[in-house]
Amino acid sequence: MFTDTHNHTCHYSPDAKQTIDELVTAAKQQNIVVVAVTEHYEYDNPDPNDNIQTFDIDSYAKDFKEWKAKYNDITLLMGIEFGYQTHTAKTIDEIAAKYDFDTVVLSNHLFRGVDLYYSKDAYKLPANIRHKEYMSVVAEMAEKCDNYTVIAHYDYCSKYDQETNRIALYEDCPKEFDRLFEVIIAKEKALEINTATSIRRGLMPDPEVFKRYVAMGGKLITFASDAHVSDNLGRKKEEFIEFAKSCGIKEACYFKDKKPVIYSL
Ligand SMILES: [Zn+2]
Ligand SMILES: [Zn+2]
Repeated sequence: MFTDTHNHTCHYSPDAKQTIDELVTAAKQQNIVVVAVTEHYEYDNPDPNDNIQTFDIDSYAKDFKEWKAKYNDITLLMGIEFGYQTHTAKTIDEIAAKYDFDTVVLSNHLFRGVDLYYSKDAYKLPANIRHKEYMSVVAEMAEKCDNYTVIAHYDYCSKYDQETNRIALYEDCPKEFDRLFEVIIAKEKALEINTATSIRRGLMPDPEVFKRYVAMGGKLITFASDAHVSDNLGRKKEEFIEFAKSCGIKEACYFKDKKPVIYSL
């Protein structure tokens, strides 16, 4: 069984190219039985390069009802991906509580106020310095917000790193990783295994990150391809399941009505 808990469509995410129909068709072709749509919501986005802002959630919820009725032979989950900044924590929690999301994915896309997709300065820094600073914000976001289900792509700081092509390592910032794991384990939130950086960079994540999460008592893991085009949906899924097992992970989950549904790998 494979579930894909973080994806975007062109209907509400400006950087996505797939329609809901293309997403569902691709999922069915690959026997992915559970698919979440998690559209970008970047409240008060400070990056002028970035066209990702907010969208009308009432309209999204209405459309989603129709999508669920139309694609009733697959488990389609209504989600959202919030881009975090320190001053938006309260707003994120309020919006997350107001709507009937199945899953609420929390992300840090920014580095010193610029999305890491556009940033040039971030990649001039030594990788370990960049990763440490990035991860401290990820840990802060996990602490400051409450109404979320999943911490997305802790390795976003490596996704567009063309300078060093270096993945985020546990040893770059063990204190920040431990701080993150401690809070999400206490709050019963999940850590995401996001395949997008690997698809783009050709590098697998650092197993020490997930081994440490398991050793600290972490049980909730989600799998996500973070697909913006249907070709990326489910890519490398078998490789990532084997990777997870090699880190001591025996179960994964997805969220329905913000509650984890756990299954064996
Ligand atoms: Zn993201
Ligand atoms: Zn995403």
